[in-house]
Amino acid sequence: MYSVEEIRANYKGFSNSKIENIARNESKGLRKEILGILKEEIENRNLDKRLITWVDAETNTLTDFEKQTLIRKIENLNCPNCGQKRSKLSGQEFNTIVSVILWCNDITQNRILCYYCGRNKKFKSYLITGFAGWWSRRGILLTPYTLVKDTINIFFQKKINDRIIAEFIEQNNGMFRLHGTDDENLFNMISWHNNDYEIQETEEELENE
Ligand SMILES: [Zn+2]
Repeated sequence: MYSVEEIRANYKGFSNSKIENIARNESKGLRKEILGILKEEIENRNLDKRLITWVDAETNTLTDFEKQTLIRKIENLNCPNCGQKRSKLSGQEFNTIVSVILWCNDITQNRILCYYCGRNKKFKSYLITGFAGWWSRRGILLTPYTLVKDTINIFFQKKINDRIIAEFIEQNNGMFRLHGTDDENLFNMISWHNNDYEIQETEEELENE
């Protein structure tokens, strides 16, 4: 492991944009001493002071008690998909495979939704994969695997929920610290999370020919 002095020297050599990027995206993983170095660099170079506010918010992680309170709050929000409160919200995983000849699109979506919206969406993913998943070499292997995995996942819903909610809280720590966790804020952040957070794996099988 590098000594603090070595790291300080490294940071001095970084460009402004690299320092800004670390402050925006990577501060959560840094040790306390290195956070100090990062903040010094931001100050010495006269970069935007809001970066320091952001780093402080991101690295001031929620306590277990705050997390538990937040989880109860999230469960009891209106559903960001249907806008209603028909059941508790939960984190759910949807897997969809679409393939055409040499092209295979494998999409995993993590969403926070009510039970009913989740059921509809799951059914849709199932149908799409069942009809459109098979039509490439990779799809032939991946489609039955995905359908079986989705079936098994039914028994692990609580585990999946806990993982997705924990990821959501972890990713948004800085936003919670800066903007609070009132219902409106939370609702907007979950809507945003549901729209953008998508793991997509496309593979052109041509590469393997
Ligand atoms: Zn809903």
